[in-house]
Amino acid sequence: MAAPADTPSVTLLRAPWVVPVGSRAIRDGALAVSGERILALGPWAEISLKFPQSTVHHSTGIILPGLINCHIHLELSVFGSSSPPELGSTMCDWIRSLLQKRMAAEFSEDEIYETAECFAKEQLVSGVVALLDTGNSMLPAFKGEVPEIYSLFELLGPTAQATEIALQTLADLNADICSTGHAPYSTSPRLLQRIKQRTVSQKSIFSLHVEENPDESRLLFQGAGCFKEFLEERNAFDGTFPLEKGKYHSVVDYLQKIGILDARTICVHCVNISNKDIQFLAESKCHICLCPGSNRFLGVGKAPLEALLQQNILPALGTDSIASNTELNMWHEMALIREDYPDIAAETIVAMATIAGARALGLEKTYGTLEEGKSSNCIAVEDEKISTAESEKEVLDILVSLDKPGKIVRFREMIAA
Ligand SMILES: [Zn+2]
Repeated sequence: MAAPADTPSVTLLRAPWVVPVGSRAIRDGALAVSGERILALGPWAEISLKFPQSTVHHSTGIILPGLINCHIHLELSVFGSSSPPELGSTMCDWIRSLLQKRMAAEFSEDEIYETAECFAKEQLVSGVVALLDTGNSMLPAFKGEVPEIYSLFELLGPTAQATEIALQTLADLNADICSTGHAPYSTSPRLLQRIKQRTVSQKSIFSLHVEENPDESRLLFQGAGCFKEFLEERNAFDGTFPLEKGKYHSVVDYLQKIGILDARTICVHCVNISNKDIQFLAESKCHICLCPGSNRFLGVGKAPLEALLQQNILPALGTDSIASNTELNMWHEMALIREDYPDIAAETIVAMATIAGARALGLEKTYGTLEEGKSSNCIAVEDEKISTAESEKEVLDILVSLDKPGKIVRFREMIAA
């Protein structure tokens, strides 16, 4: 009997390997897809019997969920790549040079927008299906095909006066614009709390750079270090910092006590955190996003990934901006994690680039794993190294070591072929 005319047709995607993330990899696997949703997945022998009348598309690679980039600043794309800071220079020196570039450059709004759109498209081409973009300007929606973009308008205010100005900006924002704070060293406690309260009422994400550098706690607790010098140079060291003496044990403790950390908060970087901090982070249920490429570029060290995993925190991954990375490529970030933490299972690294990011963005019902009912917006990675893979372990090891995959085929391209 013919299917009713309004029944959506079923498409099968077959590949030598399907890596669903969250369940075992399937050799000679297949996905049954209807429209934008996954109907079923499993071994080809089973799926082809279950959906015999379907159109079949073949991939020669590995099918896996689309990647999630949890931290990027698309508006900085216009500055292009730069060389890493010289040995011995501080993160503040890097911020100085970035600010100098921003002040000196006479890029038009169109140029900033067009480069940002170009970088967003490159994210899509590299297999990213959703990203969290943070910026100090509000870019209009992009016209071309880009990943799903969660935009946050970032505010900062390290002095009482700058806080008042930022609070006014916040009060004037349209209700549909989501805002966030920059970092504890650049944003007063009052401003951080007010922005967080607004995100709570909006049920939106609050994403903050946290403990990227030890100078953050030096400023907050001792009123010293390179951030103090940086603020002094700008007449922006007015007594907002240091914080009240003896009240907080660490930056994470401070953020928890002023009400910033909860399940809709993403702490980005977390390089300079203690085991006690990790316990606080775990208890607060906030999300962590690591940016290994940016950390390496700026020479700030490595986040304690093993200790985070021991506390059952699966961090997401982000590229950060091209101002602090050699390239914006989630495959490169996965390869750096593999290189920096060789004992961490490849399965965990793939989960960081997929389901951890989806959870951090509240998109886990749609993205992050291949499961019945979730989005069919998967990707296929095609690379000559894959043809020799004999086991799930080999497949996963290849995925996290590719760095620059031969070819990424997106779902729409698969079904159009
Ligand atoms: Zn950043």
